[in-house]
Amino acid sequence: MSYITNAHTHLELTTLAHLCPKHPTAFLSWLARIGWEIHRLARDEILSGIAQGIAELQAGGTTHVGDITHTWLSVELLLASGLHGVVYLEVLGLEREPALERLREAQSAIDKMRRHPNYGAMQVGLSLHAPYSCHPDLLRLGAQWCRAEDVPLCIHVAESEFEIEWLLHGRLVGPGRIFSPLVQAMGMVPALVPWQRPLTYLATLGVLEARPLLVHAIHVTEEEVALIAAARCAVVHCPRSNHLLGCGRMPLERYLQAGVSVYLGTDSRASSPDLNIHAEAQFACQLHQGYVPEQQVMALAHRPLEYPL
Ligand SMILES: [Zn+2]
Repeated sequence: MSYITNAHTHLELTTLAHLCPKHPTAFLSWLARIGWEIHRLARDEILSGIAQGIAELQAGGTTHVGDITHTWLSVELLLASGLHGVVYLEVLGLEREPALERLREAQSAIDKMRRHPNYGAMQVGLSLHAPYSCHPDLLRLGAQWCRAEDVPLCIHVAESEFEIEWLLHGRLVGPGRIFSPLVQAMGMVPALVPWQRPLTYLATLGVLEARPLLVHAIHVTEEEVALIAAARCAVVHCPRSNHLLGCGRMPLERYLQAGVSVYLGTDSRASSPDLNIHAEAQFACQLHQGYVPEQQVMALAHRPLEYPL
């Protein structure tokens, strides 16, 4: 069987496709807009966007998908879709108690969904949004639970310069300064700065031991690639979204040289012109020309997303 895998989507954002930048924009200003708009959507709008996204994936011949759902609304539709892969329930929060309460809710929802009659080809996992948006205890305990219960885990990491500067130096750079009210509203306070690079931070908390699927992982050092390889984590590369959000080029060749499994993903329609993984692979070929042979890049679209990875 030949597989076509889109390993990173947020189908619930399909209805926000009009917010997809036409030209590279600043990551943090985009994030602020999406965060604001998602909470204004009605449940029915989100559900019809998810259905539209699933139809688009299927029309493109997609067999496997890795979807993150903040509203948890894509689970039922994906379980009924006939697609294979994983749908990850997203949890985030920098305030310890509410974040851990949300984690407990996600854990019981995942336990319940794993008993769903359609469970199997489509699995249900946990997404801890990102190192800058999750309390350290949420990251540590969420990963510990995934490891103990064999639950797939997914984390956005090292996506933008903003994330590195904040975690390593406690500094808000570029548009981060303009959006300092936003980051304050998120609860990003100096007391929670780990003074470490994102992957080192996740390794210190024991998160890599749960072998998370790491999304983006653009701004990494040689040492961090070695950490990812040693922990046998996989990485998802979303080059068109990275380009449109001004995040830079992921060092694909370093991952492949280190033997890390790399998947391709489009990311959501709010930062990608479509959900077509062939178009993503073609863009990736151009981006990595001179670094990675075309055939090797194209092959990344045909790796099935199945656990254990
Ligand atoms: Zn994402």
